[in-house]
Formats: sequence, structure tokens, C-alpha cells
Amino acid sequence: MKSTSNSKRNVTLGGAAILGVALALSWFRVGPPPTVTITPELPGIGRSTPVAVQVDSGQRGLSRITVELVQGERAELLAERQHQPRPFWAFWGPRTTTDELVLAVGSETVEQLVEGEATLRVSADRASTWLRSPPPVVQELVLPVRLTPPAIQVTSSQTYVAQGGSETVVYKVGPSAVRDGVRVGEHWFPGYPLPGAESDERFALFGVPHDLDDTSEVRLVAIDDIGNELAVRFIDKFTPKPLRTDTINLSERFMERVVPQILARSPQVKDQGDLLATYLTINRDLRRANAQALADLSAGSAPRFLWNQPFLQLPNTQSMASFADRRTYVFDGQDVDQQDHLGFDLASVRKAPVLSANRGKVVLAEYFGIYGNTVVVDHGYGLMTLYAHLSSIEAQLGKDVERGESLGRTGETGLAGGDHLHFSIILHGLQVNPLEWWDRRWIEHRLVRKLGSALVIENP
Ligand SMILES: [Zn+2]
Repeated sequence: MKSTSNSKRNVTLGGAAILGVALALSWFRVGPPPTVTITPELPGIGRSTPVAVQVDSGQRGLSRITVELVQGERAELLAERQHQPRPFWAFWGPRTTTDELVLAVGSETVEQLVEGEATLRVSADRASTWLRSPPPVVQELVLPVRLTPPAIQVTSSQTYVAQGGSETVVYKVGPSAVRDGVRVGEHWFPGYPLPGAESDERFALFGVPHDLDDTSEVRLVAIDDIGNELAVRFIDKFTPKPLRTDTINLSERFMERVVPQILARSPQVKDQGDLLATYLTINRDLRRANAQALADLSAGSAPRFLWNQPFLQLPNTQSMASFADRRTYVFDGQDVDQQDHLGFDLASVRKAPVLSANRGKVVLAEYFGIYGNTVVVDHGYGLMTLYAHLSSIEAQLGKDVERGESLGRTGETGLAGGDHLHFSIILHGLQVNPLEWWDRRWIEHRLVRKLGSALVIENP
């Protein structure tokens, strides 16, 4: 009997201890306060500002997270997350201890947003117990709200551009603009301050891609530091110039000559183990890589006109292929590829001297993929000329060259069917029609009349 009463007492004591622990847990075992960080990607709220919200809590886990945007009396719920924390008596089991929300905050997502200031308010609840439920941790961030894009005023007139051609626009932008220029689809032509102008005028040289047959995508753009953007149409006249088509018959002999040479000089190209397959890799992938490298090169172009005369066409040459030919490549009676030829092929005698089309600076002088031995001359403001398939290079990287100065000799390196010069004009990475730049009248009308004293052409 005695032992029974003892064990009864032990059970009672044990029960009291468990109850004590449970009471202690249910009082003290709220999770630690969560930490909240709010990181906007832009210095304010405009059209759409990406904001990252990071919430961390240890041990028992997060419960509810809300993100609100507060302006005056109005609080708009932008996001809400509900997590299931562990019960206060559980020491294991699933829980969420960190969470990240990425929101787009701006006039595109929040109705009735007004200019001024707005507060981003994040509330994070931690796990509670049935006796204690501490208030949520609230973190706030005040940001300016601006919804008006920079103004644009076009000050030049008669913007006439042809498909594949180039043109100039002169304009002013409002003081909030941090980036301006001409956007044509995926191409960007940056604006520059107009040298010598008394006012705050800016200008951009731009081109219309050879395969774009209308100007609906051509816009003059000004953007502020929080992404407010104005994009206006400004083309007065557009001249379509449809692509010509051409057929290139690929012979085994031709590929046997060009493929091993290009492979040996272009470590990034893999031998496909088959002559035609390797040729096609070169014609597609290496061509694309070379185009990208030329676009990258234009980023380093001098912000001034290095030239002051019309561009020079290589004298005594016959044009074998002109700008914007859509070439279908045929092998063994089968169409195997299609590429656009975006330069002039000029032929005279073998190893003829190649002359710089204008004054500028040599920014590339090396073996350059499909173009073989190549020289690229920068003429400033994103305008460059390219001289390809050379048998020898005389130009030196980084050196200034005069118009008519020899850069090397014609040849047939790279993807060339015979001795000739491939000549391209590149404007901010886009290959444009050289015929315009060879034409003194075109330069007078499209550039000089708009740019005034910023561009003076010698011997008019
Ligand atoms: Zn060519």
C-alpha cells in the first residue's frame, strides 16, 4: 500500500513538472523577433521599381508577412505571405525561417499612386504561443514618388531616313533625364551634348536596320533615374529599300580553302568533324559572335567627330556585292543557310592598297573570324568603318589615321571567295548603308545642316 501511495505521489509530481514546463514554454517560447530588410533597386518609385523584401527569423519560424504602400490615409496591400510556424510545444517539424519577396512597385501596379512620398511598410509576425502573441515587427522605408517623365523637344526638322540608312536628330530633354537617345527595336543610339551649341541641345546619330520596313519602332527616348520614360515618334519621311536576294553556291573546294584557315585562327570554333557542318557553324555562330564584338567595340567610340570630309570609296574598284543582300547558300542542290550581307565587296587588282575611308583611330587590327585579317577605324560618336579579308595589315592598333592612309592590302582571308575588300560602315554596332556616307550631298543635308558648327566639312 505504501509503495502505491508513493508512486501516486510521484505521478502527481511528474504531472506538475510537465504542466510547469508546458506553462513555461507557452509563456516564453515565442520566436525571436524577425529581422526585415527592404531593398529598392531604384532611388524612388516611378513606373515600376523592383523592391526586395528579406525577412529572417530563427528557431520556430515565420508566420505572417505583409507589404503595404502607404500614402496619406491610404494603405494598399501589395503582398501577403502566410507561413505555418511550429506549435509552441514542438521542437522539430517543418517551418520557414527566411523568406524573400520581390515586388514591382509603381504606377503600373498601384492604382491611385500620387507624386510626393510613399512609405513601404513591411510587417512580419513571428510564431506565437497561446499565452503570448507579441506584436509584429514593422519596418518602414520612405521613398520619393515621381511619375512625370523627362520632357523631349525635337529642334531639328526634316528627319528623312531610308531602310538600312542613317540620320541625325537634334533635341532637348528635361533636366531629370539621365539617359537619352534613339531606340530602334533592340538597337540603342545614345544621345550626346551638341558641341558648340549655346543651349542645352543634344543630338543622336542613328540607323534603321536593313530588315526593318517601317519606322513604328523608331523612337526618341528620355528616361529619368527611376525609370520614367518618354518615347516619341519623330520620323518625317521613310524610304523603304527592300532587300535584294542572291544565291551563293558552296563548293567543296571553297570550303576546303576557308574552313581550316578560320578554324586554325579562331579557337572558339569547334571542328564539327564534317566540312559543311563546320562551315555552317562559322557562317552562323562565328558571324554572330563577330557582330557582337563589333557592337561592344562601339561602346568605346570617341565622343567627338574625328572626321571632316565625306567618306572615301576605294578608288578604281568594281562593286561585286552591295549592302543588304539576303544570301541563300546552296550546297549539292540543297538550301543549307541564309545570311544577310551588310557591306560592299570591292574588287580591283590583287593585293590592292586599302585606304582609310576617313580620318579616325584604329580600334581593331587583327584576324577577326569570318572577316579574316581586319582593320576597324573609329570615326567618333559610334561611327566605325571595317576593312575585311586583307592579305596584310599595315595599320597599328591605337594609332590615328588620315583619310586615304593605307591600312593594308586586299586579300581573301576569312570567308572570302576571291581577292577583294569587304567594306562596312557600322553605327553603334549596326551595319548601315555606306552609299550615304560616300555622298557629300547626303552628309551636307542629313548631318551638317542639323549639327551646325559641330561638324565642319572641308572643301565643300
Ligand atoms: Zn562582303
